[in-house]
Amino acid sequence: MNYDVVIVGAGPAGSTAAKNLAEEGVHVLLLDKATFPREKPCGGGLPTRVFKRFPYIEPFIDSVSYGSITYSSSYRYKFDLIREKPLVMMVLRKDFDYGLVNLAVNAGVLFHSGKSVVDIVIQKEKVSVMLDDGQTVEAQAVIGCDGMHSVVAEKTNLSKKLEVLCVSLVQEQPLTPKQLNTYFTKKRLIHLFIKAQGVAGYAWMFPKKNCVNLGIGEFQSAISKSKPKIPLKETYEAFIYSLKEKKMLPPEFPIENLRGATLPIFPLENTYGDRVLLCGDAAGFINPITGEGIYYAMASGHIAATVIAEGLKTQDLSRHFLSRYQKLWNDDFGKDLKLLGRFNTQWGKDSEKIVRLMTRDKKFAKLVVGVTGGQISFSKYKVALIFRYIYASLKNLFRAKNR
Ligand SMILES: Cc1cc2nc3c(=O)[nH]c(=O)nc-3n(C[C@H](O)[C@H](O)[C@H](O)COP(=O)(O)OP(=O)(O)OC[C@H]3O[C@@H](n4cnc5c(N)ncnc54)[C@H](O)[C@@H]3O)c2cc1C
Repeated sequence: MNYDVVIVGAGPAGSTAAKNLAEEGVHVLLLDKATFPREKPCGGGLPTRVFKRFPYIEPFIDSVSYGSITYSSSYRYKFDLIREKPLVMMVLRKDFDYGLVNLAVNAGVLFHSGKSVVDIVIQKEKVSVMLDDGQTVEAQAVIGCDGMHSVVAEKTNLSKKLEVLCVSLVQEQPLTPKQLNTYFTKKRLIHLFIKAQGVAGYAWMFPKKNCVNLGIGEFQSAISKSKPKIPLKETYEAFIYSLKEKKMLPPEFPIENLRGATLPIFPLENTYGDRVLLCGDAAGFINPITGEGIYYAMASGHIAATVIAEGLKTQDLSRHFLSRYQKLWNDDFGKDLKLLGRFNTQWGKDSEKIVRLMTRDKKFAKLVVGVTGGQISFSKYKVALIFRYIYASLKNLFRAKNR
């Protein structure tokens, strides 16, 4: 046997799993098809809970945002949240992911980049991992952290046709400190545009230390069948044009280096099998309302490492033993993801009202921001949120009648 564990994919899920296993004395090979440091299309916004759970990421944080401005689709309503404490931490994925890989290597992981996995064969006593250069490596277990189009999930029959997807476009554009101060203030406020240009999703502007990350995401399940299909690139161009018109971006701001990506929205039914586990995007661990996934990637990588380390100790890497991984992630964040998933189609509905209610009822706004931004658990606060929504709606109705 070459290794105890082979991890496929060195994004946040893979590096976290690798680092934690190596710290337990496990002999780990981490593989990635890309050559690092590599780019990854992403907003790079981390809710503060990522830092709370994984404080070692501190050196890889690019900048911090101390608030947000949320706009309704028509721009008529605007909700400002300005804080003394950080709201979102910003990273540049190229540096962040490379930083995490280096932590794993320092912990004792062997990292091979530029190696694409093409097949996985699970046998009774081992796993064989086939690479595109014809090489085969053997291990006791494999962890699939290879993102949205996971080869590990496909070859171990864990993947299913993902029908619920978010399609997105993103660009990261340099800005001067003066421009950043002008458009995003010293607090580096993030801007969220609910249903920008009528899209069944939202657009964002995330200011960073020397650039702005700008993107748009459309939730496929929320697109109205009766509406004419507009290519997302056209919507994005119209959005940038409207921002320039409103003087929310410099007039010379270009659309360049635009990258497209798809996000899986629902957790797979099974994220484990004999000698195999799936983490992060490969398992569909994405917040179905916001598209946020780094927290779940790292959390699932950490949980997978704990379970595999235990399995190696007891020499039990059977499907039955590894099923505890599913229970652990479900208790940790899975219940929230599944519950939020039920509201994913809301992107197709009237969002104008939600932002209006947020501007008029601070408690409602706090709950919406807390739940969507991951500061509070949706399963715990669901009832409070629904009651506050009803209360805010009634208050708004009386206000309109008494005018
Ligand atoms: C436009 C966009 C914006 C986003 N914004 C945010 C955000 O602001 N905040 C947030 O938290 N999340 C965001 N996300 C989600 C986030 O990017 C993902 O959830 C996160 O990257 C998942 O991490 P991962 O480790 O599971 O997979 P990835 O980061 O995708 O890493 C997978 C790795 O596997 C490698 N790989 C793939 N196939 C193979 C193979 N066959 N062999 C070897 N290696 C392979 C890839 O090269 C890659 O390095 C965004 C996503 C998109 C698309």
